[in-house]
Amino acid sequence: MADADLKNPPKVVDGNTLVAMCLSRGGVDRMFGVVGIPVTSLANRAVALGVRFIAFHNEQSAGYAASAYGYLTRRPGVLLTVSGPGCVHGLAGLSNAAANGWPMVMISGSSDQSFTGRGDFQELDQIAAVKPFSKFSAKATDITEIPTSVFSVIDWAVAGRPGGTYLDIPSDVLHQTVDESQAQKLITEALNSRNKDLIENPRINYSEIQKSVELLRTAQRPLIVFGKGAAYAKAENELTQLVESTGIPFLPTPMGKGLLPDTHELAATAARSLAIGKCDVALVVGARLNWLLHFGEPPKWSKDVKFILVDISKEEIELRKPFLGIVGDAKDVIGLLHKEIKDDPFCLGKTHPWVEAIRNKTKDNVAKMEVQLAKDVVPFNFMTPMRIIRDAILGVGGPAPILVSEGANTMDVGRAVLVQTEPRTRLDAGTWGTMGIGLGYCIAAAVASPDRLVVAVEGDSGFGFSAMEVETLVRYQLPVVVIVFNNGGVYGGDRRNPEEITGPYKADPAPTSFVPGAAYHLLLEAFGGKGYLAATPDELKSALAESFSAKKPSVINVTIDPYAGAESGRMQHKN
Ligand code: ADP
Ligand code: MG
Repeated sequence: MADADLKNPPKVVDGNTLVAMCLSRGGVDRMFGVVGIPVTSLANRAVALGVRFIAFHNEQSAGYAASAYGYLTRRPGVLLTVSGPGCVHGLAGLSNAAANGWPMVMISGSSDQSFTGRGDFQELDQIAAVKPFSKFSAKATDITEIPTSVFSVIDWAVAGRPGGTYLDIPSDVLHQTVDESQAQKLITEALNSRNKDLIENPRINYSEIQKSVELLRTAQRPLIVFGKGAAYAKAENELTQLVESTGIPFLPTPMGKGLLPDTHELAATAARSLAIGKCDVALVVGARLNWLLHFGEPPKWSKDVKFILVDISKEEIELRKPFLGIVGDAKDVIGLLHKEIKDDPFCLGKTHPWVEAIRNKTKDNVAKMEVQLAKDVVPFNFMTPMRIIRDAILGVGGPAPILVSEGANTMDVGRAVLVQTEPRTRLDAGTWGTMGIGLGYCIAAAVASPDRLVVAVEGDSGFGFSAMEVETLVRYQLPVVVIVFNNGGVYGGDRRNPEEITGPYKADPAPTSFVPGAAYHLLLEAFGGKGYLAATPDELKSALAESFSAKKPSVINVTIDPYAGAESGRMQHKN
């Protein structure tokens, strides 16, 4: 080496830095995770390059956060974990992304390749472990493979039906180095060889659009159902145009709520059984005909109903075998349907018997529920505090708060009572019925939408899964108010018949019981946040008013009568 070169040695880039550079070039601006061997430097390097790293206590919550961040932003949420057990904890998040169809990338460090099979620190075949939950995975076995691997996991996460992908980086690769110029060259080459087809929306078959319009036009009792795939596609404007120009009633799935406001005059949410039981043509947009929609089969649906399914996934349409299927992005497809209808418009009108039947049923059911909601029941049942929370959330106005909800009765009652007025403002247990998503989703929502308040309405058992992350809320000073419906356990304490309480451990608490009167609000105070205990309407109203206007991390511990609500919520038949 010449003298001049010795004075100015080429800058070297290690694997940690190269991963961080690629993430940043790939558009990643947020990361969730837990650091430790061997990924601590990776997190620090990413922060130095402008990526915000939200450090959690547990990879499970961080993974749930990453999955929800992907849903809310349409860009993969990134989870960083350590090797072995960290990767295993992260599988919870990855599996949740897979089940919900949300884009997420899990990146785990792994043990040194030279010790493979000999019992290295935290050694695990992580590629095998992630297999059931990832649509694509890559292992960078050498530093030169990092750029292509990083861009591939990002692109695969959002391709087609979104989902989880996985990147494995052994610790020896994180410590390998290349010259900076070579690093830049590797990045440029990898960017140029990115597969563009992967991220392009499928071409839509126009004859299916025409057939669908004819079917909708001639239907007696049409219904438009939309789900979180339509929410992910940001199809709200197109759906609003379609609903309003045709006068067809609509039914959102739980997370589809808000694409059109729940208060819309064509909303069939409160007449759900009638709408799905009697419709003759159902246009289903970005929602699977799975358990949440009763598989599209009798007795909930009519046996003669004709489905028009709109889905980004061809496999989904092949699986359900609808009368008509349109593969495509929901926003594109609904836009085309609307355009096709505009040439020869039709509208059911307010006096159409089907529209009238749904409107009357909705009015009846809403009136019945309002009678229950109007009562101030103390000790609290589920309805009274839910009404107070509904009114407080509506009082915030726009931008509407993002609601996070989990629990059995708490989630079920909340779904019926709480009102969604804006798209993508409801996150709940989802397709997988995942309990434990609470704090992770709250943190993701606060990070994704800094202008919005985040309100979690959770059962005490749901809250417990991720409760330690209240410290994360305080640390990052996120505007999150967590409301815990505290009924002393899963479904609310001991519900056993006396004859079930036998055996040598009969003196133990029931498997469903927690410590009665647990002071969940003090958990947050341990870290300097604000906690409230609310057992009466006045206490709850004042806690909500104060915490909503403070926009600071808060927990409101709401005392609920342990005998209110039902075991397994509305799903008793499954337990
Ligand atoms: P929900 O729980 O609201 O019923 P699901 O998660 O069951 O919704 O279904 C969402 C569906 O949306 C999935 O089948 C997925 O393939 C589909 N999807 C995802 N993204 C899009 C998109 N951009 N356009 C259309 N469909 C989409
Ligand atoms: Mg409970």
